[in-house]
Amino acid sequence: MAQRPYIVGNWKMHGTRAMLAEARAIDRAAERLIKAEVALAPPYTLIHATHKEATLIAVGAQDCHPADGGAHTGDISAAMLKDSGASFVIVGHSERRAGHGENDAAVKAKANAAIAAGLAVIVCVGEREAERDAGKAEDVVAKQLKGSLPAGEVAEKVTVAYEPVWAIGTGRTPSVEDIAAMHRAIRARLTAIYPAGGAEIRILYGGSVKADNAAEILRADEVGGALVGGASLTAESFLGIIVAAAEL
Ligand code: PEP
Repeated sequence: MAQRPYIVGNWKMHGTRAMLAEARAIDRAAERLIKAEVALAPPYTLIHATHKEATLIAVGAQDCHPADGGAHTGDISAAMLKDSGASFVIVGHSERRAGHGENDAAVKAKANAAIAAGLAVIVCVGEREAERDAGKAEDVVAKQLKGSLPAGEVAEKVTVAYEPVWAIGTGRTPSVEDIAAMHRAIRARLTAIYPAGGAEIRILYGGSVKADNAAEILRADEVGGALVGGASLTAESFLGIIVAAAEL
């Protein structure tokens, strides 16, 4: 059976308890739009409350520390996330790679820890604009995949998000042909890295997905869903994308 498109909202550092009303509205509508699978990654402070609100959508986190616990002031472990109701964690987002100096090895350590704690992972990869202009986008992404993906035959716990850095929050997107070409290249890497399950891993596209471009992006070859930042912050804009996914 074909997999349902997976639509994940990344709220980044947005949201106080007032935003739970948006999560509730997304959840209630997602219940009717069962042809799409929907998830939200709110800030840590809202994970438990969002989980309590959710009847259908999955709730996850935007990062975790690779250690189980210990003297890591300000950090949070994968087990703590699971305890608060998260079922997945995003690792390797370009804002973490750029803003916190996370390299592929750090991302992989986080992904391994998350899986060991019983969470699924969404591993983010994507090239910078200068790398695409230099014709190096596929090489950059291949290196990130090799270095960042969790070890072992854990494909059923893994989702990959291809997010060109220059498309995040900018209103710009690659052409549908470029998205499809990159997703095919990622699929080839995934089947090499995970011989048993790599063909089934969902590959999300992320970067300025909105209600008005979602359908054509989601129809592109090997696109299994979308990771959505800005347009996931209100139920109205996020539901436009979820409807597009449900109507594919
Ligand atoms: C993101 O940060 O993961 C993202 C895709 O952001 P936006 O949708 O705002 O481009």
